[in-house]
Amino acid sequence: MTKRRDKRLMGQAYWLALWNHGLTGNNPSVGCVIVDAHGTVVGEGVTAEGGRPHAEQIALDEAGEKARGGTAYVTLEPCRERSTGEDACSKRLTEAGIARVVCAVADKHPKGAGGFAALRAAGIPVLVGIKKHQIAPLYEDFFVQHG
Ligand SMILES: [Zn+2]
Repeated sequence: MTKRRDKRLMGQAYWLALWNHGLTGNNPSVGCVIVDAHGTVVGEGVTAEGGRPHAEQIALDEAGEKARGGTAYVTLEPCRERSTGEDACSKRLTEAGIARVVCAVADKHPKGAGGFAALRAAGIPVLVGIKKHQIAPLYEDFFVQHG
């Protein structure tokens, strides 16, 4: 994967995030694109209206087994725990066999923060900061309200 390709796929995740921006209640609108081991897009998701399911969950469901060995592009740090008690996205990504995670913005919210650590603890390399300057403004309000 080249950096240019990482940026382009993150741009696609950003576009998805914009789609539901302002419609996801207390949750931020996140975009997620999953490519398989060959770099083909196999799953796309945006946080659903009202805030759930989360983007990663939708994209992983769409990708199914094709996610194994692939890369997930996510605009915001995947959550570490869920207030609903459902599996967190970091756990879902790990269990789906994702081999690499590329993220734009780290989550400052206590429930979300720690997702990178959980992924790395599972042996998944995480690249943070791709297109951060473009995408971070999308989450400023969310961090102010919940930070
Ligand atoms: Zn999540």
